[in-house]
Amino acid sequence: MELDEFEVIQRYFAGLTAPRRDIIRGIGDDAAVLDLPPDHELVAATDTLVAGVHFSEGAAPFDIGFKALAVNLSDMAAMAGEPKWATLALTLPRADAAWLEAFARGFADLAARHEVGLVGGDLTRGPLTVTVQILGVVPRGRALYRGTARPGDRIYVTGELGSAGLALAASGKAAIDGADIPAFCIERLHRPEPRVGIGRCLRGLASAAIDISDGLLGDLQHVVQSSGVGAEVELAKLPMCSTLRAVRDADARWRIALCAGDDYELCFTIPPGRGAELSRALEGVDPRVTEIGCITAGRGIHWILPDGSSYQPRASAYRHF
Ligand code: ADP
Ligand code: MG
Repeated sequence: MELDEFEVIQRYFAGLTAPRRDIIRGIGDDAAVLDLPPDHELVAATDTLVAGVHFSEGAAPFDIGFKALAVNLSDMAAMAGEPKWATLALTLPRADAAWLEAFARGFADLAARHEVGLVGGDLTRGPLTVTVQILGVVPRGRALYRGTARPGDRIYVTGELGSAGLALAASGKAAIDGADIPAFCIERLHRPEPRVGIGRCLRGLASAAIDISDGLLGDLQHVVQSSGVGAEVELAKLPMCSTLRAVRDADARWRIALCAGDDYELCFTIPPGRGAELSRALEGVDPRVTEIGCITAGRGIHWILPDGSSYQPRASAYRHF
């Protein structure tokens, strides 16, 4: 069944997320009008998912809706922002009711968990493309940036690395070692859990933060380059997912942990001597965080293998151009 534009908006998006008192005008006018809390700064990010690039043509619409919001929430988490509102620009080859219903459910599922209100968007016909913009707030001066790490700071990552990368590799031509990919890896690839809560706990504590969307290799590189520092990372300390740890080919193991991307964990730095404060701030918060190395006064990143020798990464981070 093919629906018209206004039916689609009314039926699937107008009442999709819970009302918020700070939405003065949401879906239905030319633009949304939002009430900002005093003494806060607006934090805005946008990310696009393109069929055939970010997900396969046949991907489950629930997962596409979920992930389109998740990747934006992950950016908000890295800035220590509190997400509040989102807009959704959807380009569809056709308005298929079953597809739209599942897509909207996926989006709403994650939106409800983070109390995000969908306040507007756009609908166009064309190759399947999903753009979400997330809007949030942070108390004045409390946002975290990627370019503010200092020599001596400890480097941490949240959760585990490589689960999504394993699932991604297994879905392509190059199955790894014929490894069986457990369901949790596939879940992590399609429905990443953005670390919004941890990001907020890091306010006033972390010296820098970034989300790991393109792999630790490339994203830590962004931190050191924009901070004008270097880093040393001990690969033995990397919190690799258990399935990846069991992969026999060491080169594939490091490559997936560092370069596969799609993990949506946070990488952040903590000034020396503030580790205990970090532990207190994150008490009872899931998932665990792991210290993997430190920021140095040099340039570039020194990746240290378990035997003490240097690891020379051959693969690089994912780049569109
Ligand atoms: P305009 O023509 O003024 O750009 P539209 O006709 O595109 O407005 O959209 C009508 C209303 O529906 C607007 O408030 C817009 O923000 C909202 N809207 C359109 N597409 C979506 C969508 N995919 N999700 C949420 N809201 C949407
Ligand atoms: Mg429009």
